[in-house]
Amino acid sequence: MHSRTVAELSAGLAAGDFSSVELTRHCLERIEANTRLNAFITVTADTALETAAHADKLLGQGKAGPLTGIPIAHKDIFCTRDVLTSCGSRILSNFVSPYNATVVQRLSDAGMVLVGKTNMDEFAMGSSNETSWYGNCHNPWDESRVPGGSSGGSASAVAARLVPVATGTDTGGSIRQPAALTGITGLKPTYGRVSRYGMVAFASSLDQGGILAVSSEDVAIVLAAMAGFDPRDSTSVDEPVPDYHAALNTELAGLRIGVPQQFFEEGLEPAVEAAVREALEVYRGMGAQLVEVELPNLALSVPTYYVVAPAEASSNLSRFDGVRFGYRSESAKDLHELYRKSRGEGFGAEVKRRIMTGTYALSAGYYDAYYLKAQKVRRLINDDFRNVFAEVDVVMGPTTPTPAFGIGDKTDDPITMYLNDIYTIAANLAGLPAISIPCGFADELPVGLQIIAGHFAEARLLAIAHSYQRETDWHRRAPAGF
Ligand code: GLN
Repeated sequence: MHSRTVAELSAGLAAGDFSSVELTRHCLERIEANTRLNAFITVTADTALETAAHADKLLGQGKAGPLTGIPIAHKDIFCTRDVLTSCGSRILSNFVSPYNATVVQRLSDAGMVLVGKTNMDEFAMGSSNETSWYGNCHNPWDESRVPGGSSGGSASAVAARLVPVATGTDTGGSIRQPAALTGITGLKPTYGRVSRYGMVAFASSLDQGGILAVSSEDVAIVLAAMAGFDPRDSTSVDEPVPDYHAALNTELAGLRIGVPQQFFEEGLEPAVEAAVREALEVYRGMGAQLVEVELPNLALSVPTYYVVAPAEASSNLSRFDGVRFGYRSESAKDLHELYRKSRGEGFGAEVKRRIMTGTYALSAGYYDAYYLKAQKVRRLINDDFRNVFAEVDVVMGPTTPTPAFGIGDKTDDPITMYLNDIYTIAANLAGLPAISIPCGFADELPVGLQIIAGHFAEARLLAIAHSYQRETDWHRRAPAGF
């Protein structure tokens, strides 16, 4: 059962091949049998079985939609009513949310069965899931390696076929990078496509919720239920949600693919490059045209991001003070000490590093030199993409420069860790939708092909990804033993 996609599971439920309770129980058993991956922070077994029983009723009455009764896991950054929402941090390790994030509510309304909350880098700051207060998470392809981050638990859970689909968030690559490193499909939608209401904020102008699943078809089905305007999120955009699933089989004739030279420079591992180039040839074989394009400011995206994201984080994270909710230090003698100790004990090292750099970048005297300058470079990166999209439909390249690295390999060197996101960050700075799909292996570890499209072109992006997944079966490969 667990090797089926969401689309196949949905068909199986509709045909009565199995019930949602059976499917949910199967997922829960697999989660239980694979706790060593540390993919989950919370498992909601009891409520999952209740929701599944209700879904079975709807299925029996012919009132089911395509997602009714399908299990899902949410990244622990999405607020879930009456369930721990820790954001991978000690400071929220006792926070039970009184409300649902819009994403959670919409998928619940669509009949999905929440089986648990997944592990993640603390406040989504990381590329390896090693900054989590709940410990690191393992890559099922090689358990001595990281699954990527910050949505590492969601990626690990889907790759190990513990759940058919999971949510994630992507501020600088946190859906696409772990999807690439674990051999699954991961979409970061256009900024504003999916509501951020109830999604714990890291860097508000960059954060976007999205999906990790086996296939782009599954992503299309789930995105349709998740996307759309939300009056509770002032940055959500009032654009109609197209029928992503119906658009999957649109013709690709005449597709123009931009291949930026800057995606293939120093630092890219040859075996990763080989797999990506081969994928580009598959597209050429399907009739697409490959066009060399330039993203001249791409190299500036990492430094720009590491000013903008920490600046916004330092502001967003000021709400965690030990007073209103979350962790409170036991030993504080006065109010000032309460703030200092609660934050000092509640936040981990990477989060503190971001708060400090962000506060510095925003401080009077440095604001112009750092934050304002970064915003200007951000505009240049945006303009680069605008120029490229005048010529081509999409941009393709690797998602990451290397396959999954070993646990502990980069923890002492934040700069090397940050450079893992060199190809993913630009899409966040420009607010563009981007997907990573499995396209082969390097040293027996999965490699991701990244496809970036223009604003709100998710339907086209998913159709392009789907056409590749019709021709190849990389996305159907599961790690040995799973
Ligand atoms: N790895 C990047 C960071 O550490 C991106 C994280 C993300 O997309 N949430 O900030």
